[in-house]
Amino acid sequence: MSTTADSPLMSITARPERVMCRGDGAYLFDDHGQRYLDFIQGWAVNALGHCPPEIAQALSRQAGTLITPSPALHNAPQLELAARLTALAGLDQVHFASSGAEANEAAVKLARKWGRVNRDGAFEIVTTEGGFHGRTLAMMSASGKPGWDRMFPPMPSGFVKVPFGDAAAMARAVTARTVALMVEPIQGEAGVVVPPAGYLRELRALADAHDLLLILDEVQTGMGRTGSLFAFQAEGITPDIMTLGKGLGGGVPVSAMVARRRACCFEHGDQGGTYNGNPLVSAVAIAVLDVVSRPAFLARVREAGARLRAGLQALGRRHGFLEVRGAGLLLAVRLATPSAEAVRDAAMAAGLLINAPRPDTLRLMPSLRTTDAEIDEALAVLDGCLAAG
Ligand SMILES: *Cc1c(COP(=O)(O)O)cnc(C)c1O
Repeated sequence: MSTTADSPLMSITARPERVMCRGDGAYLFDDHGQRYLDFIQGWAVNALGHCPPEIAQALSRQAGTLITPSPALHNAPQLELAARLTALAGLDQVHFASSGAEANEAAVKLARKWGRVNRDGAFEIVTTEGGFHGRTLAMMSASGKPGWDRMFPPMPSGFVKVPFGDAAAMARAVTARTVALMVEPIQGEAGVVVPPAGYLRELRALADAHDLLLILDEVQTGMGRTGSLFAFQAEGITPDIMTLGKGLGGGVPVSAMVARRRACCFEHGDQGGTYNGNPLVSAVAIAVLDVVSRPAFLARVREAGARLRAGLQALGRRHGFLEVRGAGLLLAVRLATPSAEAVRDAAMAAGLLINAPRPDTLRLMPSLRTTDAEIDEALAVLDGCLAAG
């Protein structure tokens, strides 16, 4: 890792020196010609792998047709994407944006407006410790990373935090000021933390009992990542608001806030954005949705996830992992020692990209198209790194 005081690029994280040049499906290639099996995939973004033909075609077709008319004019891909997303989610209306943080900001604004109009000015949103909702000022306040809500004062307020996975703690935090509950179905950045069974159903019941909005941040879990199109669909509930990002564009920046009719209270002037729902990114999201929403595709994600999980469990028995957790192709292993960064670096040197979200946790988020052979290759590399470490 280099320090980069003399670089023209602001250094905001430690990056390896190698420069990435080309991607092809499961593989990424650097400027030295080294090939990496990519189990990070843009941070759970490239749902269809690197440079899939569907996205390349949608981009080039739309780029030659209409890139952006203006956010104040309708365009056909945006209308089609909105219709498709609402139908698939069982929700009613969409607002598009470019990043996950922006979609979550929109969700918080919608909830606060709804509280002003319908709940006598209730504004507080209960979120969770360890939660991650993005890096705008308000989303740093909403996130549950220790210290994040005090890092750039003055910070937006109005977020109350409770332990993740604890519906009773959520219930105790609800007051007359509370307008919404906001959680990830599985906490991604915290290291793939899965709540106890029934957690989302309990939050749904809590929201119904107190006339609150249930906001699910599916920026990481949505778009097939966990084996259903949206993670909430495996839990038999429907949120009032869901946010999507990452996989929605398969590598192209597009995000969405999708809501039930009863929550949709924006009036003209409340929300906007230059790039919202532009035809270029909307055409890409339609192409991604075309593939990812097929039942056979989702069944394959579950099958691939089961193979990867079983392989990791076998490695765990050999090398002494404490735990394999996650759903679909969002999986993590908790190691017995805080050696995750060393294992990550050894894996990269051996041609496998994985992520270390915590000192003792490795996260794997391959393309949703990953093959059995790629899964076996990743497991073999990891086996070697763990044996050496
Ligand atoms: C990545 C992520 C975000 C932030 O998305 P950006 O596009 O980086 O703004 C928000 N919520 C969750 C759950 C995420 O994983």
